[in-house]
Amino acid sequence: MSVSELFEEACTGLKSLFVGLGITGKAFCQPQVTVIYPKQEVDNLSTFRGHVELVGKEDDPSVPRCVACGACVKACPSDCLTILCPVPAKEGQEDAPMAMGPAPQKGSKTPGAVIVDFSLCSLCGQCAKTCPVDSLRFSDNPYMVALDRKEFRIDLMARLKRQAEEE
Ligand code: SF4
Ligand code: SF4
Repeated sequence: MSVSELFEEACTGLKSLFVGLGITGKAFCQPQVTVIYPKQEVDNLSTFRGHVELVGKEDDPSVPRCVACGACVKACPSDCLTILCPVPAKEGQEDAPMAMGPAPQKGSKTPGAVIVDFSLCSLCGQCAKTCPVDSLRFSDNPYMVALDRKEFRIDLMARLKRQAEEE
């Protein structure tokens, strides 16, 4: 590389350095829009999306509105929802322990388990948008921290029950 090329490259580098410093300096002088979690938390959670959660029935908030149609599972692009329903017993096996299978199941309008794996969720909202009975919404739980991704698997039926008891 010739001396003139080296000089040109150094000038380009310096120019880029000053442009970057200018952007940093400008941002530094603007009002702070982030908080230092966990020392601080935001107070306008209605504008945030936490993981999805179930919406309870008006007459019994511990029971989800969900009719176990399975539409949200199909709509989810990240495969994070699992909805299980009781599988109807086969003839002659009525006394066998109740089995659970993926929603929808013939004749079942009630979910037996609703699980979201928040470690996969992109918060796109397709599940809530697709639900025909408005049984899904975003929670106000955006502060999830864990060392093990298993902790992001949330039992939404149990959560709904807890919420109903606390109300
Ligand atoms: S918000 Fe999107 S990614 Fe998350 S569970 Fe719903 S459909 Fe799946
Ligand atoms: S789309 Fe709604 S009603 Fe259907 S399984 Fe999902 S939560 Fe339940």
